[in-house]
Amino acid sequence: MGVIKNPEIKYTQLFINNEFVNSVSGKTFETFNPTNGKAITSVQEGDKADIDKAVAAARHAFRRNSEWRSIDASQRGRLLFKLADLLERDIDYLGSLETLDNGKPFADALWDMNAAIASLRYYAGWADKVHGKVIPADGPLFAFTRAEPVGVCGQIIPWNFPLFMMSWKIGPALATGNTVVVKPAEQTPLSALYLASLVKEAGFPAGVVNVVTGYGPTAGAALSEHKDVDKVAFTGSTEVGKIIQAAAGRSNCKRVTLEMGGKSPLVIFDDADLEAAVQTAVSLDY
Ligand code: NAD
Repeated sequence: MGVIKNPEIKYTQLFINNEFVNSVSGKTFETFNPTNGKAITSVQEGDKADIDKAVAAARHAFRRNSEWRSIDASQRGRLLFKLADLLERDIDYLGSLETLDNGKPFADALWDMNAAIASLRYYAGWADKVHGKVIPADGPLFAFTRAEPVGVCGQIIPWNFPLFMMSWKIGPALATGNTVVVKPAEQTPLSALYLASLVKEAGFPAGVVNVVTGYGPTAGAALSEHKDVDKVAFTGSTEVGKIIQAAAGRSNCKRVTLEMGGKSPLVIFDDADLEAAVQTAVSLDY
């Protein structure tokens, strides 16, 4: 089918406990098409109160003997495979949505979608292959290790690979039995919210995946400072990564994974045809 011009915006609310809901404050923010600077739509603006709700839902889904804690590891893998299949079903729509919200060319967005699908399938395959060791202890002892999920994971996503980065983060967390609260970048919230709808369609139990759209210093900070979040995973700038690491230490010494900074300088030569580059971008204007 290919690119869909003006893709319909289906979801603009927070996704908590498998339901799309408004923010507690009732506030919204606009997300823009970077190729023309026009507002695409308004999205619910989550902050601390919404993060609290989402973390409570994720904690409830993680409680002992819950559906999520009780299902077989292979079933977690099947759910992730199903999510990857749904993403593949909607690849043109999601790629078009990503192009609209992020501004990257559709061919690049499709690359991201295929990478996201491959990533989810990769982690789906791992779900029932995480195992411990039997340790040959001295004496009449039986010693073994058993890998356990960490718990509730906060996942903070940048704008440059919105859906791919989200898949990259939720894939391993869900394969290993954790529950997640995702905070997408404020510049690119739309594909994350659509992916949330696919999470529900795939059949994940309520509260396993939650998505709170909003700003970094409010929603993002509330997640990294939360005392009931066991781990925070972040991709973005070095400056913000340092803030998150400090917040994790100040609150509950939660585990932290930081993927920071960039090392891709752009070299523009004197004879570069900037006009042609601008025309290429404009031709992608929705
Ligand atoms: P950023 O660090 O400002 O934002 C990234 C995310 O962090 C967003 O979701 C944002 O809302 C959130 N955030 C901002 N302030 C926060 C706070 N105080 N507490 C918690 N969360 C907060 O990043 P950016 O400037 O939007 O751009 C993306 C950056 O990510 C670029 O510098 C790029 O080089 C880097 N990046 C690096 C990699 C990598 O592989 N190392 C990959 C992708 C992006």
